[in-house]
Amino acid sequence: MSRVVIIGGVAAGMKAAAVGKRRNPELDICVFQDEPDVSYSACGMPYHLADPVAITRQKLVARTVDRFRADGIDLRVRHRVEAVDLERRQVSVKDLDNGSNIIQPFDQLMFATGARAIATKLDLGPGAPAMFQLRSLRDADAICKWIEKARRVVIVGGGYIGLEMAETCRQHGVHTTLVEMAPRLLPGFQPWIGDKVTEQLEQHQVDLLPGRQVIAAEAGRVFLDDGTALECDGVLLCTGVRPNVELALSAGLKLGTTGAITVDHGMRTSAAGVFAAGDCSEASHLVGGTPVWYPLGDVASRQGRVVGTNLAGGEARFPGVLGTAIFRTFDITVARTGLSYTQAKAAGFEAIDVQFEAPSRARYMPGSQPLEVTLVADRITGRVLGAEVASSDAVDKFVDVIATAVWGSLTVGDLADLDLAYAPPFSPLIAPVQVGGELARKRCMDSTT
Ligand code: FAD
Repeated sequence: MSRVVIIGGVAAGMKAAAVGKRRNPELDICVFQDEPDVSYSACGMPYHLADPVAITRQKLVARTVDRFRADGIDLRVRHRVEAVDLERRQVSVKDLDNGSNIIQPFDQLMFATGARAIATKLDLGPGAPAMFQLRSLRDADAICKWIEKARRVVIVGGGYIGLEMAETCRQHGVHTTLVEMAPRLLPGFQPWIGDKVTEQLEQHQVDLLPGRQVIAAEAGRVFLDDGTALECDGVLLCTGVRPNVELALSAGLKLGTTGAITVDHGMRTSAAGVFAAGDCSEASHLVGGTPVWYPLGDVASRQGRVVGTNLAGGEARFPGVLGTAIFRTFDITVARTGLSYTQAKAAGFEAIDVQFEAPSRARYMPGSQPLEVTLVADRITGRVLGAEVASSDAVDKFVDVIATAVWGSLTVGDLADLDLAYAPPFSPLIAPVQVGGELARKRCMDSTT
């Protein structure tokens, strides 16, 4: 019987444990999770916080600790792995409830340690407002208690979690100020997307302060680097994450250029019999070919499945990622997949991009909204390379079709000719995907002649 130790019990770790045990019931799987909660949807937390009655805490938990144990997985919560000895094939673990130490041997090991919040350095004076981050269900519990009585919040960081939380705070009627260090919102996206989201925030009475940083806090307020003081009774730190790899590094595992653990397509690390998956590991970009780090829940789950299969003796392969992602704030949804124009150029493509607007459904149908899109393709081959899109309707459909096209190496001509579902409530006669394909096809031809 192979002894397996998994470090981390949320998306990647518990998926690997469940799949591994299902595929080979003889596996002796022990999962150490330092939090009391396991297998929960961190992605659902902003929505739970917006409406904890409709989306209860319980609904965010995919499978309970008892359920995993009933399935024969030795799941130990509030146990932190403090050291990994790859030579002796053992981990040393602290029981966070009674402080005792355990040594657990393994034949195969998995790192599923996730990501951790980037620490924000603040000069905290006496009585500073409550500081929150939103990484775990415990963090969500603390915010849930606070938000009921909150009046004014400062959100630090305008990434997707900060933006989702801006909506949540406004739903609770909390006066919301969002402070973003970059000179404009969403610097990783096309500038027009940042402008659209900025308009949304204005429409929903969120005060946006770009190009500034929160540096200090004292009773009832925070201070920005330009001297502005903002009154608030709580601060939400959404300043991004980095891979949680200290343990892996001290065990001697190789890290990649992104700072996350290097893995091959079987999610195997540089050490024999040791796997890594989820936010602590890298992936390769399916178009750009370079190692990338996209800390996303669906990626973690798919990688966890690969590890589970391979722990059980299989030969599963994680092909790579396109960086497909989507989020909503208020009435706007933003999504992307594949390479941006700049990334495509850097990857050596003769990139072209087209920017266009197309209705989400037949123009005369209620609910039809303009989809605004930047589509990127390779001029030489016509291959679809990526897209960014924003609208209040049908963004998910658009981005998923483009992601499929990029995955399947379709050309812009293929996009224009796709046989897609049409009826007025769902799509205009010529779908936005086809509009983009046609425009990009023309652009490719124009720039060749
Ligand atoms: P994690 O979920 O971080 O789990 C790792 C666990 O391991 C943690 O509980 C950690 O405490 C534990 N651990 C670490 N070290 C040790 C140790 N030494 N011993 C024991 N335990 C340890 N992704 C999307 O794709 N779409 C979304 O809409 C989305 N929304 C999000 C919203 C929020 C608010 C947050 C926080 C994340 C969101 N994500 C989203 C990201 C997604 O939740 C993560 O990508 C996913 O949870 C990663 O899973 P993981 O198992 O790799 O790591």
